[in-house]
This record gives sequence, structure tokens and C-alpha cells, in this order.
Amino acid sequence: MTNNPMDWGHKALDWGRAYRAGMRDRPVRAQVAPGDILALLPENPPETPEPMEAIWADFERIVPQGLTHWQHPRFFAYFSSNAAPASVLAEHLVAEIAAQGMLWQTAPVVTELEMRMIRWLAEALGLPGHFTGVTHDTASTATFTAVLTMRERALNWAGNARGLASGPRLRIYASAQTHSSVDKAVVMAGIGPENLVKIPTDDRWAMRPDALAEAIAADRAAGHLPAGVVLCVGGTGIGASDPIADCIAVAREAGLTTHVDAAWAGSAMVCPEQRVHWAGIEQADSIVFNPHKWLGAQFDCSVQFLADPTDQIRTMAMRPEYLHTPGQDRVTNFSEWTPQLGRPFRALKLWFLLRAEGLLGMRTRIGNHIRWAQALAEKVAAEPGFELTTPAMFSLFTFRHLGGEDLDAHTLALVQAINDDGRIYVTQTVHEGATVIRFQVGQWDTTEADVAFAWDVIREIAARTG
Ligand code: PLP
Repeated sequence: MTNNPMDWGHKALDWGRAYRAGMRDRPVRAQVAPGDILALLPENPPETPEPMEAIWADFERIVPQGLTHWQHPRFFAYFSSNAAPASVLAEHLVAEIAAQGMLWQTAPVVTELEMRMIRWLAEALGLPGHFTGVTHDTASTATFTAVLTMRERALNWAGNARGLASGPRLRIYASAQTHSSVDKAVVMAGIGPENLVKIPTDDRWAMRPDALAEAIAADRAAGHLPAGVVLCVGGTGIGASDPIADCIAVAREAGLTTHVDAAWAGSAMVCPEQRVHWAGIEQADSIVFNPHKWLGAQFDCSVQFLADPTDQIRTMAMRPEYLHTPGQDRVTNFSEWTPQLGRPFRALKLWFLLRAEGLLGMRTRIGNHIRWAQALAEKVAAEPGFELTTPAMFSLFTFRHLGGEDLDAHTLALVQAINDDGRIYVTQTVHEGATVIRFQVGQWDTTEADVAFAWDVIREIAARTG
């Protein structure tokens, strides 16, 4: 092989294919200790060029052992971050093209394919025709952008102009089930975590619209400035969803902007029968969902749908002289919608993915995941010595094994033992004060047999750890 990196492309593709094919033989979670990988890396950069042979050999020697394998079919932890083959292929092309799509002019196809993919995805999820949108790197960025827009809309753009120092206390509302990216957004937006009001939930861990209305009224009475409501569909801890229609009705009545975080569960809306979980979504101002999770688009790829982008563009756009282009008022420059200026070609992997799978393929895969998770949750509930702590919501449920004197310590020890064993991978959370095991089905290559296998492994290791 020559020393030209371009000549190694086929080898990289072959390596990727073999890596995927042999996945079930690898432990899912990395089995290295902190510092093990660092110890394998030279302290200093090379002064002179190194041969590709040596670089490749070190890649094979060092990298795989330091990976937790997110594309492993027995990955039941966190939420899956799928990279479907078609999207991986597109990502290879994106790396070759290496275009920067900050403005329409800097790569028209990056912008126009993104516009079309946003429309395709809106339709795939059953959203009405008025939604437009933009891609971000992650849901955290989309939510941050939405919170900035809430802030500026409430302040009539005085915050952008003069800063927040002399303004009123802005208030943002969310349920306790929303992801920590909402807390971070409020911090980054200078609103302050004390002004993120966590609204009480009902017996299904869903935001109570009456409590939302009361909190807004109380804040107004106290002289604060309510700015917006962040709702969740498929919260990270246990998969809970807020009653979208009722909460948006309260927000609208109060003149507040709404943002719905469906980062994980948004993908499930390709299945029409799941849309009941976000009934009323057509009234939302902003929605985020991550094709880079369940749907299969290689990370990073988060989509923010907007009922009307005007306020967000007014909040985010910067137009310095050096970015002016002829006819710019007639085209979409997506960097005016987002915090970052530079933009990768995310739409290509969506295009390849949606065409290679079709909506039918997506529905079948995600529908299966939901069915398999629900069936396993029922088995867990029926198994002596186990407790189902929350029911399957979409394809996520939580449970614990009733063993040991200290149940929380026993649960943590069980999670550790399962992941040290390596055949499957799960993680834990704290739900209503108790440590529980989270189990989600969502990896692209997971089969029903993998889910059954996971249950066998869990019971076997639980029996061993007492
Ligand atoms: N919102 C929800 C519901 C999530 O589950 C997650 C991550 O798991 C996020 C937001 C943050 O996603 P990202 O990593 O794309 O910022």
C-alpha cells in the first residue's frame, strides 16, 4: 500500500464492515481502566511524517479496546445513537466533499437538500405543512436556541441589544422529567437556573397543565416575566411525556413560546399509532428531535422544527460585511438560524438513510423495538424477585432486582456486574428517590433474540449477585 492516505480508503471501509459484522463477539462496554488508553499514546506529537502503515497499526492496536460499542446489538443503555449503513456511507462522502454550508452560496446543495429533508422528516412524523426547520449538531443546541428565542421574544429583543442586567426576572417552565439540556440552556441564556420553574407532574410523571397555569399566574403576580414553556415527549429518565395539547393551550393563553423536546421519542412518530403521545404537537412553536438517536442518522444530526422561523432568525442572525452575498435576501442562509456559523453537510446522511430504508423500514424497526421492550417489561413485572419500577414508555422501562440489604447499593452493584460481564450493556437512573436500572431497546441491529438474551443474562447475574 502506498503512503497516500487516500489509497487507504478501501481498507477503512473493509475494516468498518468487519467491525460491524463481528460486533456480537465484543464486550459492549469498554473493559479498560481510566488512563489505560492514555498510557498507550506518545506524550509528544511526531516531528516528522509517520508512515500510514504505522498510523494504521496503532489505530488497530489502541482504538477498538477503548471503545464502548454503540453499534452493538446488545446495547440497551442510555438511548441508542444509531449509525445506519446508508448514513455511514453518506458520511464518507461528506468527509470527502468537506463543504462548509454556512451560507446558501457556500454550497447551495447543503442548504437546499437540508430544506427538503426537513420537509420529508416533518411529513414522516405526521407534522403539518407549515413546519419548516433547521439541523443542529445536538438537541442541546436546538433547545438552547429555542430558549434564547423565548428570552428575546419576551424582552422584545432588548436582551440582545442591552444585555440582561437591568431587566425583569425571566421565567421558563418545564417538568421535572425534562432533560438536563434545558437546565443548561437556561444557564447559558443567562436566565439563571433559579428561574427554571419545574412544574409538578401527575401519576404518569406528566406535567400538570393546571399547575403550569398557576405557576405562570403566581410569577406574573410577583412581577416576574414568564417567557416560555419547554415540554417533553419521551423524557430521558423513564420516557415520560407531557400532555402537549393541554400544556400548549395554557402557554398560548398566557402568550408564551413553546418548545417540545422529543429528542429521543420523536423518531417513534414515524409510527402513526405513537402520535397519540404528542397529540396537539401542531400547535408547538418549536420541536426538537434527534435523527442521530433512534432513527439511524450518524451522529451528529438534530432537527429543530419551527412553526415560524422569524423570531429565531431575529434572535440569532448576524450579518457582517464579510458574509454578504449577492441576492442574499432571496435565499436561506441557515447559519442565521443557529448559534454556529459553520455548518456541515448533515442532510446527505438523511437523504441516503430515508431512501435506503423508506418510511416502512423505519416503522417496522422502531415498531419492533417498542413491542419487544413492552413484552420484556411484562416478563420483568411477572418475575419473582424483580420489580418493574416504571412501565415501558415507547421502548424504555426501568426495574430493579430485589436483593441485598441496601436495595440502591445492590442495584448499582448489579449494573456494574452486568457491564463488567460485557455481554450486554445497561445503565441506571434515580427514579422517585430509588436507584433503578434503565433498559431501552433501540439499537439498529438488535433482534428479538438479543432482547431475550439480555433477559437471560440479567437473571443469571442477578442470581449470582444475590
Ligand atoms: N433531550 C432528551 C430527551 C434526551 O434524551 C437527550 C439525550 O439523551 C437530550 C435532550 C440531549 O441530546 P443531545 O446529546 O443531542 O444534546
